Amino acid sequence: MSLSDSVMYLGGVGPKRAELLKKLDIHTVRDVLYHLPRSYIDLSAPVSISEAALGEQCTVRVRVVKKRPPALIRKNMRIYKVLCTDGESDMTVVIFNSVYLYNSLSEGEDYILYGRMSGNLTSREMSSPMILKYSSADKILPVYHLTEGISAQVMRSCVRSALKRQDLADCETLPGDILRECSLISCEDAIRQIHFPQNEGMIAPARRRLAFDELLTLRLAMLSMREKNRSLTAYAMGNKPISRYYSSLPFELTKAQKRAIEECLSDMRGNIPMNRLVLGDVGSGKTAVAAACCYFAFLNGCQSCLMAPTEILADQHYDTLVGFLAPLGVRVALLKGSMTAKEKAQIKRGLASGEYDVAVGTHALIGESTEFRNLSLVITDEQHRFGVKQRDSLAKKGENPHRLVMSATPIPRTLALMIYGELDISILDELPKGRKKIETYAVTGKLRERAYRFAAKQIDEGRQAYIVCPAIEDAEGGLDIKNVTERARALKEGVFKNCRIAILHGKMPAQTKESVMRGFKEGKIDLLVCTTVVEVGVDVPNAAVMVVEDADRFGLSQLHQLRGRVGRGEYQSYCILIAENPGEDSKKRLRALTASSDGFAISEADLKLRGPGDFFGQAQHGLPRLKIADLAADSDLVRLASDTADRLYGSGFLASKQGRALKNRVDALLGEGAKN
Ligand code: ADP
Ligand code: MG
Repeated sequence: MSLSDSVMYLGGVGPKRAELLKKLDIHTVRDVLYHLPRSYIDLSAPVSISEAALGEQCTVRVRVVKKRPPALIRKNMRIYKVLCTDGESDMTVVIFNSVYLYNSLSEGEDYILYGRMSGNLTSREMSSPMILKYSSADKILPVYHLTEGISAQVMRSCVRSALKRQDLADCETLPGDILRECSLISCEDAIRQIHFPQNEGMIAPARRRLAFDELLTLRLAMLSMREKNRSLTAYAMGNKPISRYYSSLPFELTKAQKRAIEECLSDMRGNIPMNRLVLGDVGSGKTAVAAACCYFAFLNGCQSCLMAPTEILADQHYDTLVGFLAPLGVRVALLKGSMTAKEKAQIKRGLASGEYDVAVGTHALIGESTEFRNLSLVITDEQHRFGVKQRDSLAKKGENPHRLVMSATPIPRTLALMIYGELDISILDELPKGRKKIETYAVTGKLRERAYRFAAKQIDEGRQAYIVCPAIEDAEGGLDIKNVTERARALKEGVFKNCRIAILHGKMPAQTKESVMRGFKEGKIDLLVCTTVVEVGVDVPNAAVMVVEDADRFGLSQLHQLRGRVGRGEYQSYCILIAENPGEDSKKRLRALTASSDGFAISEADLKLRGPGDFFGQAQHGLPRLKIADLAADSDLVRLASDTADRLYGSGFLASKQGRALKNRVDALLGEGAKN
């Protein structure tokens, strides 16, 4: 008997229900136990009949006074009426057709009823309520996600029979001393209490224990991925000085950049593959760090590649790397999907023969047929757009190459621990000197015209501007969301009529996008009306104004990213966030942005306000979905779980007999990650 047994063997389940339960991703007894309630019905505090709000779900405690005989209202339709009292007032329970429900009530007995109260001031009734004997133990009932054929009742009885298993204690994964130290209840208690809590107060400790397990397992999975990486052998590079790189740059690197570069170089000198994340705010100069690493690899006779999430960004990285490295004799190639087959073939030949030292590109780089002569350094930019698997397949192009990941989003440390737990982290917490603070304003639609006039004036003075809209075209369903197409059309008439306007959005063909972006970069376009495609890393130093329409529709971190598109040159820059009718929440969020230019602080606020799911948009980007723990709300627990994981891992607990159950969990999670 094991918790991995099929649900089929649970009392009251059988093959047919087992099949239905699969739709809820429930296959084993353990899955039933971990199908956690999404909420509860609290039957422990009934109201009196006269207090019950009409038209609302409520709980009352009553005694059955009189069961009336059924009335046949039409063929196959019986109505049962049962008169009840709470000692003060009376009410009628109305049951349609269910003799079963009717029979569950006996005259003179006490019951808890849960349902919608209807009627008027003098006569009250409840139709087909949920009925529980008052003496029955559970006063708090779990509410589950259900599927067709599996009613709330059935689900509860499945869980009940799973809870009756003798082997329930087998779900424990942690040694007693850890439980005590971390003030955690046992896993068995947690599972029991999360489903059928004795009282409301038991839900929190149960949840805490299960959330802890989830975080602990995730962190352990990260640690074992890291270990796996550390067991590989990479090419240890020689200690070549890169001072020529430093002196050829048109600027002085920040202390943070230098520190990050030193950390990378020191990793690459070792024979364990580097696996490092450079976490830095917008504009902190991550590319210059990447270029330094490429140069170091070049000095060691090794090839590097840099993968970007979009072609626009790949182009830009290419330009930057050529600018930084070509004068030092490094040969940089660009490879991307939109090239002709002939161009691609030529570049690929050059990479295979070693004619190029550095390849910059998009996903096309990982295409099957791309080969390198001796790829030893793999850099991915804006990594949260890539799944773990994509990163892996690029790394396979070399022999255990060193890996560097540049994140576009500064994220709070607790989150980084969980999401990038398998990586070492270098933080760029310093912006290059002389950056002017971007003046940021949050305004309502009333000031739109003024904002536009301001942008037009800046354009007159030779600057360029962005207007960012949330949508590409007219939204479906008549929602009044600003869209690029219409906005651009409208703007051609108004204050911008003498400006060169272009649009840019994700659905345009790659080549069109590219030529628009180039035009903007080269100053041939004054005003770019666009969606968030400009979000990632686009660098146009002459752009000094950004107006964001419907700013309340974006996340804080995203707005901060967007804002980072201006203020990249010598000019004072401005960001105007327009929200038509912002709610209190939106106002608070937008204010956070006008008040701060620190990406780490903003992302912390964003995470608190929205939770990690929304933080990363729809997909969780390779991170397994957390069912219980909330990375934003549980930051203390995240720290506790991750410290505990580090300790358990370090002490070899997973390899011990006692650690078997936990190891199985970790392996299961890793297996799941690979599926993504
Ligand atoms: P991000 O970290 O957002 O990717 P980038 O690497 O695109 O930032 O750098 C932003 C801009 O700052 C680029 O134009 C880059 O050349 C410039 N830059 C990078 N480091 C420095 C520095 N230390 N001093 C001045 N400018 C810098
Ligand atoms: Mg960048």
